Amino acid sequence: MKKRIFSGAQPTGELHIGNYLGALRNWVALQDEYDSFYCIVNLHAITLPQDPAVLRQKTLDLARIYLAAGVDPEKATVFIQSDVPEHAELTWILSCIARMGELERMTQFKDKGKGNSERAGVGLFTYPVLMAADILLYQTDLVPIGQDQKQHLELTRDLAERFNRDFGQTFVVPDGYIPPVGAKIMSLADPSKKMSKSDENPAGSIFLLDDPDTITKKLKRAVTDSGTDIKFDESRPAITNLLTIFQLLTGKTPAECESHFEGKGYGHFKTELAEVTVEFLRPFQERIRQFDDATLRSILDKGAERARAVAADTLKDVYSKVGIV
Ligand code: ATP
Ligand code: MG
Repeated sequence: MKKRIFSGAQPTGELHIGNYLGALRNWVALQDEYDSFYCIVNLHAITLPQDPAVLRQKTLDLARIYLAAGVDPEKATVFIQSDVPEHAELTWILSCIARMGELERMTQFKDKGKGNSERAGVGLFTYPVLMAADILLYQTDLVPIGQDQKQHLELTRDLAERFNRDFGQTFVVPDGYIPPVGAKIMSLADPSKKMSKSDENPAGSIFLLDDPDTITKKLKRAVTDSGTDIKFDESRPAITNLLTIFQLLTGKTPAECESHFEGKGYGHFKTELAEVTVEFLRPFQERIRQFDDATLRSILDKGAERARAVAADTLKDVYSKVGIV
């Protein structure tokens, strides 16, 4: 039996190169070896206000992006979270064993809620419990994530262990898979912040659907640190971030990247990075147009059916363990 993977992304904003390098790329690499469930987490999306018509459209668009990135619906189960109501149901059960204190320690809530609990939504607060339900429903062994989700995955493990201890063995306790390089691509405008879909400043991100001109402009304007060498250096986060993107897109080693740009300046480096990025995204952007709405709908319906079969088994066991009917 293959081990199982679960991962997902929110259908909010525009997917950026950080989502690709930190998450999607690894989903594709792992789909042969694992029984993979890749979800479009639209219930997570409404933890911040969304326009309903835009959300509906973005949900399908995200499915298109998964497929264009190389997720193969013959190998992986691709589905929309809200098509499987067990996600919301297990969230309630897990909410009853999660503790306020542990959720208050989640840094994403502090960031996205801007520290204002008078205004922040309860859904934003309990976001990690929904994420735990997503993962645990599928008896997941491995969860590929970016660095930003490490804390949420720890919580998922804690909740699984607590439930198993209190009610008897029920959930597989999942491991996280954080890629050694690319797990935290930083904003081009502020290298102390991660690149984020919800960032209000579009100059900070290279979106997967940006046209060549926009990509070139954004990279030319990307902030740089003091010093002129094109070298990986922890004390120079801006150049290190740009070099990391170059490294991942070209498949070169760090040493090869540095020697490639030896004696060259920032201008030269940024122009070449822009060319590499444009060429990398071109086939992806062409593939995106191949999937019409009807094809997508049928892939997503099949995915939801497969997902529900697994999720329903887990939820039935959970209900029976806690004494709900
Ligand atoms: P939002 O700002 O709306 O939360 P996001 O950019 O964080 O958007 P998500 O949909 O929350 O995107 O995350 C999808 C996946 O991408 C997750 O696995 C997450 O860890 C990963 N990811 C997000 N941002 C980055 C980044 N800057 N570098 C690497 N991986 C990332
Ligand atoms: Mg996020």
